[in-house]
Amino acid sequence: MAYCGKCGNQIEEGVKFCPACGAALQVAQPETVQSEPQQPVQPEPTAEEKLQQASATII
Ligand SMILES: [Zn+2]
Repeated sequence: MAYCGKCGNQIEEGVKFCPACGAALQVAQPETVQSEPQQPVQPEPTAEEKLQQASATII
């Protein structure tokens, strides 16, 4: 079941226009909506790596 994003009216599937407000209903395709460039995820250092860095600074 779909809902109108404009007025929130409940709309049967297959209907392209909201019968209440007449807004055009778009099929939800979140993958194509946002086209932000993907940034590489930098993994956080593990506890072991932190320990090694800490000991390296001490010595
Ligand atoms: Zn509507």
